[in-house]
Amino acid sequence: MIGPKVYETVADMRQAVDAARAAGERVALVPTMGALHEGHLSLVRAAREHAGHVIVSIFVNPTQFAPTEDFDAYPRDSEADLKLLAGLGVEGVFMPPATEIYPPGFATVVSVGGPAEGLESATRPHFFGGVATVVTKLLLAALPDVAIFGEKDYQQLCVIRRFVRDLDIPVEILGGPTVREEDGLAMSSRNRYLGTEARRTAALVPQVLNEAIERIDAGEEASTVLAEGTARLTQGGFAVDYLELRDAETLAPVDAQSARARVLVAAKLGQTRLIDNMSLARPANGWR
Ligand code: AMP
Repeated sequence: MIGPKVYETVADMRQAVDAARAAGERVALVPTMGALHEGHLSLVRAAREHAGHVIVSIFVNPTQFAPTEDFDAYPRDSEADLKLLAGLGVEGVFMPPATEIYPPGFATVVSVGGPAEGLESATRPHFFGGVATVVTKLLLAALPDVAIFGEKDYQQLCVIRRFVRDLDIPVEILGGPTVREEDGLAMSSRNRYLGTEARRTAALVPQVLNEAIERIDAGEEASTVLAEGTARLTQGGFAVDYLELRDAETLAPVDAQSARARVLVAAKLGQTRLIDNMSLARPANGWR
């Protein structure tokens, strides 16, 4: 099996992208922080449907972690990642050192309002500045035709769509559905932090989301349903940051039942913070 080419500099990646374009290929980028799982791989497969040349970036972005968060502990396994990506026939992997992305004197932040306000920002005010800055850099570094992100990080996807439109970055942004474990838990690199019992408890998150969706879809008052869901998570041992119904595009609060609405949740189980979301209006295959 021939592995993907690994690039550590923007210049090297750009050269490969230029060569692919010159050969008539479309180019797709899948940005990740590594420790790859089936959720990431689903995005890579989706990328393949849109482009003959697929690049995955692996960069644990320091600016989206607060000093108190898990930057040092964040799982890193580039050998396993490269093997998985070789299995999918990915052409290139961009694995820059931090100094390639943030050279000495770096002084720029992409600051997004609108969908970046509230939810994650309430407890992680540094987060979207870090994400928007690094994703802007990755998009401009690779200049792909299309870039693919997961609905798992739904607010992040809305924020990326917003600044890409606002800054006229000429890249199509696509969202891929959340890939889940059998018990419904959304796959996440951070699930590795969960011990056996916490892992079992974690399934309460998708259960509460799914039940909330069903009850709101059936016409129950959202505020009552969400308050009960919060109580269930709290009783289950979670510290709930939010469980809210929001407009699916602007993320503005909505209280009426709306086909465009999504329920979003963030809750901590011990030191592990889980986030998830589901949309109103049930698709045929159950989880949404
Ligand atoms: P991360 O490595 O956690 O920064 O995630 C990289 C990309 O994979 C982001 O666009 C995430 O939204 C996406 N992703 C993470 N987990 C999942 C999942 N379970 N299903 C689908 N996409 C995911």
